[in-house]
Amino acid sequence: MPILFEHVTAVTMDRVNPVIPNAFVAVEGAKIVSVGTERPAGNFDRRIDGAGKVLMPGFVNAHTHVPMTLFRGYGGGCDLQHWLNDYIFPAEAKLDERCVAAGAALGLAEMIASGTTCVADMYMKTETVAKTVLESGISANLSCGAVYFGSPEDFSPEKCDDCENHIRLYENWHGAGDGQILVDASIHAEYTSCPPAWRWVAEFAQRHGLRTHVHVSETRSEHEKCVEKYGETPAQMLDKYGVWANGGIAAHCVYLSGGDAELFAKRGVTAVHNPVSNLKLMSGVAPLFFLRERGMNVALGTDGVASNNSHNMFEEMKMAALTQNWNFGEDHGQLSAADLLSMATVNGAKALGRDAGVIAPGKTADLILVDFTMENLFPCHDAMENLVYSAAPSNVVMNMARGKIIYENGQFLTLDLEKIRAEIENYALPHIFG
Ligand SMILES: [Zn+2]
Repeated sequence: MPILFEHVTAVTMDRVNPVIPNAFVAVEGAKIVSVGTERPAGNFDRRIDGAGKVLMPGFVNAHTHVPMTLFRGYGGGCDLQHWLNDYIFPAEAKLDERCVAAGAALGLAEMIASGTTCVADMYMKTETVAKTVLESGISANLSCGAVYFGSPEDFSPEKCDDCENHIRLYENWHGAGDGQILVDASIHAEYTSCPPAWRWVAEFAQRHGLRTHVHVSETRSEHEKCVEKYGETPAQMLDKYGVWANGGIAAHCVYLSGGDAELFAKRGVTAVHNPVSNLKLMSGVAPLFFLRERGMNVALGTDGVASNNSHNMFEEMKMAALTQNWNFGEDHGQLSAADLLSMATVNGAKALGRDAGVIAPGKTADLILVDFTMENLFPCHDAMENLVYSAAPSNVVMNMARGKIIYENGQFLTLDLEKIRAEIENYALPHIFG
């Protein structure tokens, strides 16, 4: 059913024509079919008046752990290692499929209402996450984040549950929903696994043509301990085993060396910057200018809600801007609003292998409407400036994922928020926290 957005300000993320006032954008099936200032010919099942609103590509949250929404605000005040070992790992040990489904549904609802249309997620019980994503309507690259704490000599795929998890996830879910779900190969991190596991995941990725998704150099101690142990950085060590053969996502990249960044640029690996999580866990600030100067694509993510504590991509853009100003502004000036919006949309789409993130004919119709008549977005001298520095999730009045409206004027059209809330209150929270 063709849909037409009329008289809207289109923030296209297309370099040639980045902002089109009074635009007409037509969508048919899952694709954008026309963009311009003339009303396209033809009949439309629905016409949406965009006067006073901005239409932009939906956000791509390029690194998160959506079921961790259950841990919002839990274990606050710790650095990464204490937070993981004393709070998160013990709570995660209690998760069952029902808890994961409920946490994923809540996280997806929050993302949908705040304008996200595509995510890269890494979590356990990933097939349960996949079912929930499919229902929600947004696109996702899913991965199970392999961990292996046994001794390297004892490693065998039969003894590593995450090898089996990779196989099942790939066979049952890669390409599901006409490409709505893609599967990435994944290692949780260098420090939670070992070389034989890296070799297995690398070979799996190469055999099936999959990208990989890994936490890389998030903290100084992780980075330095790896150099101490192996004589190489995490990025280079994993490269020795072929982990980056098909490109993918390196989450965090706070402590990458220049050589790491050049290697990643060559392999087509995107740095996913998670500024709020990195600051909350006191990990540091990724040097975005340094990474970009070495040719890396940079995208944005929230990381899990347990270390954020929300899925708010507006906040990530603003936080990325302000932290770069504070740490590197003297030498580099400011990131432009267009740069920040690109990181939150088209750069993330590229990282995930998605033909989205730009409003142009032929692109996937992942679109959001932002109400610029609201008090915090008025007046508007520059739509991109307002989107990065003034907008909030509550300004999102419509989310269209793959051509289908899944959220409009506060109503979820694919998820039942009351049911999700009841499931968390009555089942998941008592199950995990007693
Ligand atoms: Zn993470």
